[in-house]
Amino acid sequence: MAREVLWTAQEAADATGGENTCDWQATGLSLNTRNLEKGDLFFALQGPNFDGHDYVADAFEKGASVAVVERRPERLSEDVCLHIVDDTLGALNRFGAAARANSTAKFIGVTGSVGKTSIKEMLRHCLSKQEVTAASAASFNNHWGVPLSLARMPRNAVYAVNEVGMNSPGEIRELSKLVRPDVAIISTIEAVHFEFFKSIEEIAQAKCEIFEAMDNSGVAVLNKDHPLFELMAESAKENGVQNIIGFGEHPQSDARLIGYELFAEYSRVQADISGSVVDYTISNPGFHWILNSLAALAAIQAIGADVSKAAADLSTLHGLAGRGEKTLLALENGDSFELIDDSYNASPVSVRAAINVLANATPRESGRRIVVLGDMLELGSKSRKIHADLAGPINVSGIDLVFTCGAHMEALHEALPAEIRGVHKKNSTELAAIIADIVQANDVVSVKGSLGSRMSVIIDRLKNIS
Ligand code: ATP
Ligand code: MG
Repeated sequence: MAREVLWTAQEAADATGGENTCDWQATGLSLNTRNLEKGDLFFALQGPNFDGHDYVADAFEKGASVAVVERRPERLSEDVCLHIVDDTLGALNRFGAAARANSTAKFIGVTGSVGKTSIKEMLRHCLSKQEVTAASAASFNNHWGVPLSLARMPRNAVYAVNEVGMNSPGEIRELSKLVRPDVAIISTIEAVHFEFFKSIEEIAQAKCEIFEAMDNSGVAVLNKDHPLFELMAESAKENGVQNIIGFGEHPQSDARLIGYELFAEYSRVQADISGSVVDYTISNPGFHWILNSLAALAAIQAIGADVSKAAADLSTLHGLAGRGEKTLLALENGDSFELIDDSYNASPVSVRAAINVLANATPRESGRRIVVLGDMLELGSKSRKIHADLAGPINVSGIDLVFTCGAHMEALHEALPAEIRGVHKKNSTELAAIIADIVQANDVVSVKGSLGSRMSVIIDRLKNIS
């Protein structure tokens, strides 16, 4: 299908003040030649280990219509179109700001310690069944991901969902200035990123920077069950955001969980979303998905979309890659086992969520519940203790075997009772072969760890057993 025009030479010049070497139109926007599509505008960004200018020729070979550059790369054909700026990252930001300024969409910004992508994907799934909806790809939530997502929005978007992330104070402030959300969701606050923050309150305050970019018609969707709910609500009010929607189990939540049933493959939920009672099914197991759904539905209500339809549509959102996606895999002898791929990321809260999901799994016959855990990173000086503390929920979960890898997970390995303690290895590569060897018919194997722990190595190995 032919793609619509997204950017023209004139619009780019208006946004950045840069110079065009010819007239052009682009139908998409890309930072990476590996996923560049014909007609895309290619942004030559510079990173610590790469310079996008080295890939400009490749971009044109793959069909780029124009490249945004700081200088003409050497040996580049004269007949390609360039948009020349002083600073490509600054230009990307200006593209994002211009797209936001020209858009009539309602904007939802999603921040929080965990659950941003999960909530964003719920919103994308439900809202795109109602109106043209733009949503950040993957976890594009940082200094390039946010402006890229804005600059890529279709011009006729009615709803736009943007993930907004951070590692240190001030980041959300800058990103939120670009997004200027009509509705801001803070999923939850967790004690992570301790290299940059002294306390969980400081982390909450940093997430609350999102309110600074909102006007007084804005809506804050906040976790009513969280001990820092009041702090966040106060911060919203101080920034002029008066309309606060609390979501959760708390009896005074505006988006309130009335009842639920957790099954191995899905959950049934009844909730009251600011006066609309909805019964729905979530095809992603685990209580955390129920909380995420309350936040998503509250935001859907706040932007004036159809909440009942959205709730019904949640049943057709199936596993998200790396976030609890389930697959039935074959063993060499033709038997099968189930893999829960939660390898995208890990923090104390999300590992507990994964433990609960595995506890709820129902292996057939002699199948076992096995969890394979890699390090949770960015936990600062208390990291080993935080890892060891996972023994508590694991001990009461009914999990049969716990395999670990990484320097921090060693502390958990040591804290586990001998009956369930599996092997510990330095890294995921060493552990992969061991897991592939021990897995048996009907086992349910959940794999989780921070991105930097490279648990995907184990996922790949398990997917290639037979
Ligand atoms: P990132 O900052 O890495 O982009 P994120 O905030 O987008 O993360 P997700 O990708 O949605 O978070 O989820 C990360 C992990 O946390 C997944 O393993 C997911 O299963 C789990 N998770 C999602 N939502 C919650 C929640 N509300 N509570 C606890 N764990 C959650
Ligand atoms: Mg994310």
